[in-house]
Amino acid sequence: MERKLASVVMIDDLQPIPGADLIVVATVKGWKLVVKKEEFRIGDFAVYCEIDAFLPEKPEFEFLRKSSFRTMGEQNGFRLKTMKLRGQISQGLLLPASVLNGYDYTLGEDVSARLGIVKYEPPVPASLAGMAKGSFPSFIPKTDEERIQNLSAEYEAYKKETFYVTEKLDGSSATFYYRDGDFGVCSRNLDLLETANNTFWEIAHQLELPAKLAALGKNIALQGELIGEGIQGNPYGIKDQTIRFFNAFDIDTYAYLPLPALREMTGQLGLELVPVLDSAFTLPDTVDQLLLAAEGTSLLSPAGKQVEREGLVVRSADKRISFKVISNKFLLNEQ
Ligand code: ATP
Ligand code: MN
Ligand code: MN
Repeated sequence: MERKLASVVMIDDLQPIPGADLIVVATVKGWKLVVKKEEFRIGDFAVYCEIDAFLPEKPEFEFLRKSSFRTMGEQNGFRLKTMKLRGQISQGLLLPASVLNGYDYTLGEDVSARLGIVKYEPPVPASLAGMAKGSFPSFIPKTDEERIQNLSAEYEAYKKETFYVTEKLDGSSATFYYRDGDFGVCSRNLDLLETANNTFWEIAHQLELPAKLAALGKNIALQGELIGEGIQGNPYGIKDQTIRFFNAFDIDTYAYLPLPALREMTGQLGLELVPVLDSAFTLPDTVDQLLLAAEGTSLLSPAGKQVEREGLVVRSADKRISFKVISNKFLLNEQ
């Protein structure tokens, strides 16, 4: 599931911002963003660029230079971040459909490539990058989570469901698997070679995962968040590194274990789960209310410090439904 960083949308709503004459707030799916007052009308088609979009240095995007210029590796461009304007959260950018130069688009179409837009990726330290043994194994799903703002069409139906909620930790995705006698370690997108100073492999040995997974006697993957020194600025002030697990995946039946079974398995193996905040959660009335609920103090805050959590991951018991709700407070502090 690739992120649609720029796609054709319909503008769902436009509302005034108290005290502002020249700008209004637009709603696109579950996203809110500030636009110029007369630029769009409700029902217009437009191109919506999500936060983390990295736009090329083209004349039509020059207006972003002052607020958004960044370099990513060798590339210069404009990175879209969460902002607050006149007290209003603003996430992403709306461009008039004319930016597509008469291209015959369809609603929902991903137009990132057409506009030269890619995802902004911060630099990754060598200890986390590693060397690829191969691409991410096809027999395990990746750990990606969709953002609730892109699921607004499903939100009403989701209100009938019961979810469990865990704290979303700000680290690096890690997958450990045992399959037909082979033990493997993966980062978010790669199966990793065991190389010197690779943090994922080091932690695997430290937690004795090769032996622990083999002892389970079945083909299994454990997935969690690597946190600590050298990772995302170590917001939790952890000494060295550790893993907090959030998935156990049965490779042979191609199914996730439900939370109680995950809890039992990690408990047995002496491993830790991500913090579980609620095991019988129902959704509030609106996406905006859920976004407010995502704000709060991390349960991993170091003593005497209140760290804003990254957000929540909300899941149905069978993981049929699963999404992330990132705290806007967290995003506003992001560099
Ligand atoms: P994006 O392109 O959406 O920014 P990303 O790779 O930066 O993608 P994240 O925003 O970090 O991904 O969201 C998904 C990741 O969240 C998962 O890959 C997983 O590593 C991480 N994660 C942290 N805490 C949890 C949790 N409690 N449950 C599930 N995943 C979690
Ligand atoms: Mn991200
Ligand atoms: Mn992350």
